[in-house]
Amino acid sequence: MSETVVNTFEAQQQGRPTGPLVAGYEVIIGFETHAQLSTQSKIFSRAATAFGAEPNTQACAVDLALPGTLPVMNKGAVERAIQFGLAIGAHVAPRSIFARKNYFYPDLPKGYQISQFEIPVVQGGAIEFFLGDEKKTVRLVRAHLEEDAGKSLHEDFIGQSGIDLNRAGTPLLEIVTEPDMRSSAEAVAYAKELHKIVTWIGICDGNMQEGSFRCDANVSVRKPGQPLGTRREIKNLNSFKFMQQAIDFEIRWQIEQIEDGHAIQQATVLFNPDTGETRAMRTKEDAADYRYFPDPDLPPLVIADDWVARVKAQMPELPRAMAARFVADYGLPEYDATTLTQSRVMGAYFEAAAKASGQAKLVSNWVMGELSRRLNTQEAGIETSPVSAAQLAQLVARIADGTISNNAAKQVFDALWTGDGTEVDAVIDAKGLKQMSDTGELESIIDAVLAANADNVAQYKAGKEKAFNALVGQAMKATKGKGNPAQVNALLKQKLG
Ligand code: ADP
Ligand code: MG
Repeated sequence: MSETVVNTFEAQQQGRPTGPLVAGYEVIIGFETHAQLSTQSKIFSRAATAFGAEPNTQACAVDLALPGTLPVMNKGAVERAIQFGLAIGAHVAPRSIFARKNYFYPDLPKGYQISQFEIPVVQGGAIEFFLGDEKKTVRLVRAHLEEDAGKSLHEDFIGQSGIDLNRAGTPLLEIVTEPDMRSSAEAVAYAKELHKIVTWIGICDGNMQEGSFRCDANVSVRKPGQPLGTRREIKNLNSFKFMQQAIDFEIRWQIEQIEDGHAIQQATVLFNPDTGETRAMRTKEDAADYRYFPDPDLPPLVIADDWVARVKAQMPELPRAMAARFVADYGLPEYDATTLTQSRVMGAYFEAAAKASGQAKLVSNWVMGELSRRLNTQEAGIETSPVSAAQLAQLVARIADGTISNNAAKQVFDALWTGDGTEVDAVIDAKGLKQMSDTGELESIIDAVLAANADNVAQYKAGKEKAFNALVGQAMKATKGKGNPAQVNALLKQKLG
């Protein structure tokens, strides 16, 4: 990898297969994502980064750009950038440079943003994910460290704007892809995978509503085989749903413009969730407009090999590695393994229950089925599940050893969920859910059923298979649904000869 990362988007697209066409056009999408790093303090000052504080209570002299103040690099922010680089197989630059990005805006007290330009800390790497059955690889150009700006507040003021500098100096990692995506669905799948990685390794809390994970989608269209078209950049997409809607609208809009004979102007656009439309906010600045130059207040960021090695040794198992292990160690289908590694907590929950019960597939079915369904209706994460991994393990163990049926297990689960009980065996006893597996008792019930249903017995003996099902039904009814179906079947077969 060369020291200076020059964007050669066109050259990078040579030889890539054509994507699906929309009205004869190929869609090209590249992402820039701002992930807010989960440090306690800001990237160049000691002020706190906590969300939701009273305006301007978390901005210190450095954040306010008072004369004589100097930035001091936050080691935790660098460490998180290294973690990200390692997670996505990128090159962690041993020496990178901070630059000043100059522009005037009321929420930017210094008149410039400290960012990285020619030499970013993370270079290259890729994000891999599945879109349906198809494996996709989106290459990253770079990820660089920078500070966030403050916020302008318009709502509570008449004829004036308020400025809140709490966010000024909050550490960000800006993650830039090659224009490798070919549909809105692929773009959303990429963003979800990236979100999963940064939250998994814990460098970002991923809270999109609070702006901790903000995506800009660069979108262009072209006729297959043509050079890249002019892009428009949709700013600050803060939900996956809006992301898809905004990109889809933008694609249709661009195609219409071109079909009507208009050229696309490079621009920055905003998505309005109320109208479902994108609208140009400003024409696009070029890098030259920002008059980037190395920040003389900050020395080069030097990362020694042994720091990278130390971070590497502490990296958690990554989602794809964990999924592969679930397939290998627990014999789970690929689909289950991918679903169960949506988050680190879910992976750990599954594994704890699978180990304790020895019933990996059953646990998987319950986690992906009943448990996820209930969590979804409450919009809650698995970390808040009222049913613990240990309880689920007990529950599936009782299904596996024939103590309770699947239906009874749902009642037990419900009791655990609502706090109507905490001990699986106690709930089974209290609710009388035990299956009738005692052969002596079952045998006498079945004998009575056979005696009372001589017609069905005769029909079965004459070769009518359906008559057998009728007998099973009668027998289950006679056990009030508590008969172990497998044993009822076996006993009936045995007695009918
Ligand atoms: P800027 O900060 O000016 O937007 P960057 O080089 O940081 O420029 O990012 C450019 C982004 O736009 C990258 O994500 C890249 O993949 C994407 N991109 C570049 N050219 C195109 C294009 N023709 N169509 C769609 N996306 C593009
Ligand atoms: Mg951009």
